[in-house]
Amino acid sequence: MKIEKIVLTHVRIPLRDPFRISSGSVSEKDSIIVAMHSEGFIGYGEASPMSGSFYSDDTPDSVWAQLVSVIGPAILAARPDTLEDVDDLLNDFGGSGFARAGAETAAWDLDSRISGRPLHSMLGGMRPDVASGLAVGIYQSVEILLRRIGEYLCEGYKRIKIKIEKGWDAEPLTAIRKHFGDIPLMVDANCAYDRKDIEYLRRLDEFGLMMIEQPLKKDDLEGHAQLQSLLNTPVCLDESAEDISQVRNAITLGSCRIVNIKIQRVGGFGNAKAIHDLCYGSGLGVWAGTMPELGIGGIHALLLSTLPGFTYPTDVESSERWFLDDIVVPRLKVCNGTFKVSDYSSYDIDTTVLQKYKVKETALTLN
Ligand SMILES: [Mg+2]
Repeated sequence: MKIEKIVLTHVRIPLRDPFRISSGSVSEKDSIIVAMHSEGFIGYGEASPMSGSFYSDDTPDSVWAQLVSVIGPAILAARPDTLEDVDDLLNDFGGSGFARAGAETAAWDLDSRISGRPLHSMLGGMRPDVASGLAVGIYQSVEILLRRIGEYLCEGYKRIKIKIEKGWDAEPLTAIRKHFGDIPLMVDANCAYDRKDIEYLRRLDEFGLMMIEQPLKKDDLEGHAQLQSLLNTPVCLDESAEDISQVRNAITLGSCRIVNIKIQRVGGFGNAKAIHDLCYGSGLGVWAGTMPELGIGGIHALLLSTLPGFTYPTDVESSERWFLDDIVVPRLKVCNGTFKVSDYSSYDIDTTVLQKYKVKETALTLN
């Protein structure tokens, strides 16, 4: 590939509903779209940090600055021939996984379009369908939570995931079990508890959960190992599984049985695939989480989920479940709780929507 131009577009699309988790709330989705041009083809990537930095320290502004000032110019100047060249270059910079993911996935997408080889095949994926799970935030009351879940479940999602925090855990779970029976159910605490809560968290075993995602602090792999040894329910790591070395440590310590692999957190397809391979070979389950991203990131997570170790439903959902509009054609649309991979193996950008929700745009060119 000869990368001639990189166009960066910051877009902001309103969420249908404010999204609240244990560490904060957002009402708009910010993403930076990376369009990599070569030989008449355009490959797309998405850098999708949360505004307000409630998931990590990265913000749309900090990721924009890295892409515009450092990563974009460096990629153009280095004239990489292969994905390995791009990977080496990005490794030299370190920095945000979000910025890295935007550039790296654009390079994979571009390589796929130039070679005519579907992205999921390039990744080594085989699965023709991907199961989708419903994820909902924290609401003002259990009644609202149950109503929202009921509305969304019409699309046939394969499991329910609720966000929990101290004071919002056993009560909503009891209500969900009462109203929705033995539907596959999991929780995500986004680091809301700490070691002194371990005894309390053991109570969650009674709900027969598919997994408990990131109950303790990000850096507390030992605490997670202690908790996992006392729980029947699998512990799943998200924020803690920052890179492959952390996942390796977690496996050694016995901190989890499942890993949520987010392309944004780990910095692209290559790192995500390496973590998948490690977990798959070590007998851990994996699934693809989301921020959630807009359609490009969503489709990329969906295609990643075709790899054999992704045995749990993904967090990728229908575009309209989260956003007022989306930037991809076709829009993501769950059918009976699943996505058909062939529907998304080639996709386009809706440039009208991209321009409508554009915050700013800049084009970097080869000098
Ligand atoms: Mg999570």
